[in-house]
Amino acid sequence: MIVVALDGPSGSGKSSTSKGIAIRAGWNYLDTGALYRAITYIALSIKSESHQNILHELASRPISFSADPKDPKVFVGDTDISVEIRSHEVTSHVSIISAIPEIRAELLKLQREIIESAQHGIVVEGRDIGTVVCPDAALKIFLTADIGARAIRRDAELAGASRGVEEVGTSLSERDRIDSTRAVSPLEPAFDAVHVDSTELSLDETIDRIWELLKERSLLGLPIVAMLGRPNVGKSTLINRFLGRREAIVEDTPGVTRDRIQYECEWGNRRFIIMDTGGWESKPDGISVQVSASAEIAMQEADVLCFVVDSQVGALDEDDVLVQELRKAKKPILLIANKVDGDSDEADAHSLWNIGLGEPHFVSALHGRGSGDLLDSIVKLLPEVGNAQVHDGYRRIALIGRPNVGKSSLLNALAGEDRAIVDDAAGTTRDPIDELIDFGGSTWRFVDTAGLKKRAHQASGTDYYATLRTETALERCECAVVVLDASVPISEQDLRIITMVEEAGKALVIVMNKWDLVDEDRRDQLDKEIERHLDQVEWAQRVNVAAKTGWHRDRLAPALRTALDSWERRVPTSKLNSFLGALIGATPPPVRGGKQPKIFYATQAGIAPPKFVIFSSGWIEPSYRRFIERRLREEFGFAGTPIVVAVRVKERENE
Ligand code: C5P
Repeated sequence: MIVVALDGPSGSGKSSTSKGIAIRAGWNYLDTGALYRAITYIALSIKSESHQNILHELASRPISFSADPKDPKVFVGDTDISVEIRSHEVTSHVSIISAIPEIRAELLKLQREIIESAQHGIVVEGRDIGTVVCPDAALKIFLTADIGARAIRRDAELAGASRGVEEVGTSLSERDRIDSTRAVSPLEPAFDAVHVDSTELSLDETIDRIWELLKERSLLGLPIVAMLGRPNVGKSTLINRFLGRREAIVEDTPGVTRDRIQYECEWGNRRFIIMDTGGWESKPDGISVQVSASAEIAMQEADVLCFVVDSQVGALDEDDVLVQELRKAKKPILLIANKVDGDSDEADAHSLWNIGLGEPHFVSALHGRGSGDLLDSIVKLLPEVGNAQVHDGYRRIALIGRPNVGKSSLLNALAGEDRAIVDDAAGTTRDPIDELIDFGGSTWRFVDTAGLKKRAHQASGTDYYATLRTETALERCECAVVVLDASVPISEQDLRIITMVEEAGKALVIVMNKWDLVDEDRRDQLDKEIERHLDQVEWAQRVNVAAKTGWHRDRLAPALRTALDSWERRVPTSKLNSFLGALIGATPPPVRGGKQPKIFYATQAGIAPPKFVIFSSGWIEPSYRRFIERRLREEFGFAGTPIVVAVRVKERENE
């Protein structure tokens, strides 16, 4: 579940922005100000500022909040007081009541309950969300605007009820003053909050800016499309068709439930997840149908349901039952009539309208007929944000290298005073300890930094533990920063560590530390060492740094971004194949045993790191593979990431 914390002073546009984002993402929304206003309303109704009295009253008239961003409401007991809490009287008392620690403690519990009950994500607005209520929020925004702009906006909101811009401005300033200076949870930006100034931005621009940040941090889940249908209707063939693969696939065995398998797919610039399901199991009598567990889960998790029918067989009685199950899910459903190989099949397949799921989409998974149109129809149904799981949004960086190369100093140079340990578990040296560190305009999650804290321990640690720690860090990271001591010769161990990164398939940045100790002689020497030893990772960016003085520490963030960007880059299949065609045309693969292998086509099978599969008629020399890899890099970049080029031999081109 994703939490976005949006803090800032009154009138900065928090409410409209938060609601806008929540609506766009299909998430919940919590206006914590409304809760403080509600409790102020209670206080005013009993005419008391004593927290005992207020909390006593709250016990019998609990506050609740309906978290729908399109129509948020706040209740005291059963009474909707959404309008009443905006009164001048409540507004002028709310800052005083909300400064009472006992009141805040009580509302903190309520806020966390509401947040925990959200399903996919929630945007929470307030004053202390990023600092106190949700210090672990995936994205924290501190939204500000000039007092003049804020007063004008608030005045417009109040419409007839306003007492003029000037008075609104004075009231806002007074609230800001109390909110920012109170002892408990004052209004202040979290250290890792992104500051957004909305003075010059329209509401849409503000939302777009935050939306970009959500995308940048991969916080918006990809939509999921589930393929459902009886066994043997051709679901897997269809999925392979979508993925652009042409390998033979295993057809479903009737009655055999397989697990849901997910594939990432791209069409028309939209990425989404295709979920293959085990299909349905029908009981021998053919009428009572049991939906397989995997299909049932798929129906819950997916954003779009594709119901695949074999048009040669037509709809069976049991399909009726399945259709009812599909309808219950209340999600967009697409009826796919497979095995329509020609116009006459299509005429026959029109009877599938009778299923009652609207227009059947005719396709031949095996031959590709109609698959492009079908993908177009699917993409049209995709929500902007889907149900696929997403991580917390911070890029995970591992800082590794042999002892004494200056890893800790580098961490300190980068972090300044902003080092924050996030997972300080039991405190034993083997637990991973992560730190969130802010530099170069982003927050980064440095994984497994425990080994970098105590110099003494580092020295006494055996090689075995050092290797183990490096492995764990590598496993958990997206990008590894390998630190070398530039003042001494590159060692075997340095190279081993670099190889580990390459083998783990992570993005890589090499830091040449202690540059302050590198004189001209050493520099010449180093150039030679780099040429000799680092040629295999030519693609890695090298950053020269003096951690001790902080020299060039600002070079690291751009290098990390480039490396991560390459690591996740996807080359469209069409581009890849026109590149490959030209390359083969100019330099065909070498002849082996009198035969020249034919290269059919290539596809990018994955990212992080990018993996390419080349289909050919015969074995391809390693030297030619390396040549392809080199040219791929020249053509498409990939600075900072290993890439994998695999060759798959096929007897002959099938189609
Ligand atoms: O956001 P809104 O202007 O409705 O908030 C009303 C008041 O509630 C704020 O001025 C502040 O005193 C209080 N508040 C708070 N902590 C929050 C949200 C609101 O103290 N998280």
